[in-house]
Amino acid sequence: MTEIMELITSRDPGEKEFHQAVEEVLETVQPVLDRNPHYRKLAILERITEPERVIMFRVPWVDDQGQVQVNRGFRIEMNSAIGPYKGGLRFHPSVNLSILKFLAFEQVFKNALTTLAMGGGKGGSDFDPKGKSDDEVMRFCQSFMMELFRHIGPNTDVPAGDIGVGAREIGFLFGMYKRLRNEFTGVLTGKSLGWGGSLIRPEATGYGCVYFAAEMLATKDESLEGKTCLVSGAGNVAQYAVEKLIELGANVVTMSDSSGYIYDEEGIDEEKLVFVKRLKNVRRGRIREYAEEYKEAVYTEADPSADHNPLWDHKADCAFPCATQNEINGKDANNLVHNGVRLVCEGANMPSTLEAIDIFLEHQLFYAPGKASNAGGVAVSGLEMAQNSMRLNWPREEVDYRLQNIMKSIHRTCLDTSAEYGESGNYLAGANIAGFVKVVDAMLDQGLV
Ligand code: NDP
Repeated sequence: MTEIMELITSRDPGEKEFHQAVEEVLETVQPVLDRNPHYRKLAILERITEPERVIMFRVPWVDDQGQVQVNRGFRIEMNSAIGPYKGGLRFHPSVNLSILKFLAFEQVFKNALTTLAMGGGKGGSDFDPKGKSDDEVMRFCQSFMMELFRHIGPNTDVPAGDIGVGAREIGFLFGMYKRLRNEFTGVLTGKSLGWGGSLIRPEATGYGCVYFAAEMLATKDESLEGKTCLVSGAGNVAQYAVEKLIELGANVVTMSDSSGYIYDEEGIDEEKLVFVKRLKNVRRGRIREYAEEYKEAVYTEADPSADHNPLWDHKADCAFPCATQNEINGKDANNLVHNGVRLVCEGANMPSTLEAIDIFLEHQLFYAPGKASNAGGVAVSGLEMAQNSMRLNWPREEVDYRLQNIMKSIHRTCLDTSAEYGESGNYLAGANIAGFVKVVDAMLDQGLV
């Protein structure tokens, strides 16, 4: 393992997020490597950590002042052993190769866990949709697609949304793809309902994450009812995680955005969540306004120089990080443990640092890694692809039922695999090993490609 990490860090020295994601997987799959010594000869680790293809391109567009702007676009086609590349597009100023390679790498194992036939990919741009007009976002999306369309297709690579890419952006991207190709196909998921989208897709990641948490608690005959929950983020994943938590009787006391977080001791109820949805999805405002509307809530401004995030420093039973990578560090993890949190279920991708994960495992928390607990989004994307191929729309109840079954199946796979490899109850080991074995078996079947 050290050898592989040395290879990866020396080949791509600056890619710290990618290194972190690889290290987390390699640390847990050692038992598989021990049982299969021939993997070394076949250079399985070298192959699985190297993207099949990396596409980088210029994205020029004109802003509302008539000024030409230039952003950088990316698509990482990581692994297609079990199906077409599948994974979201992220528009955020922090986007770079390291972040997208980590996301694409995680996506490979996540997609394998869903039981659907999807390989792994990820893409995006350092474009920041925040503060841009709808026209500017449209011009950017059109320019982005003018290059991306050559590389994607319903049987090749099927992007979706992620941070900064919601229904509005998917609409603009799809419109340009359709115009360039002159075909109406399921090339993107997360489409609006009227033109090929699936019911439950917007809800899927957040709902799925809460279904996973409920499964974990059920192993101890417990439920989410009455549990106090900390949620970070106020975007797609956070909104629907909060919605399902409220429905299941939990008391959600926090939400956040990159400017700060709100703490509402009385709990975020359905009415307050409607306010958040309108604030974020329609007015595109800041979470601070929640505390202006509801006086019982306290708003705390984010302090980028602080060594911990105060959102994770409240008494609670469960934590649902649903914002971004590395939002829980070692100090935050210790705060969570000392404040009584017994369950951490990741809605975001890699929100916990390696140090934080060690603390969760050491204290035997229920800890669900994102690649298992947030797989509901891509799973319903897979169902959207299936519906598009058949030109059918399944009703809400059917998609939700399938989502629940997929989350149950992922949960069971994690538990069974962790037990099979002597790591009973370690969801991280279970998820990594199960995903790894499925992808590696397919790669070996297909020869040296
Ligand atoms: P959204 O863009 O809808 O929301 C992201 C939220 O996180 C916003 O509240 C945003 O605040 C906040 N945020 C983003 N970056 C930072 C940062 N650097 N520091 C603090 N807060 C930040 O994205 P999603 O809800 O779709 O995605 C959230 C997470 O879930 C990501 O890790 C994503 O990869 C993961 N995920 C998403 C899936 C999906 O189906 N959408 C599927 C699986 C995983 P602000 O508005 O201020 O930027």
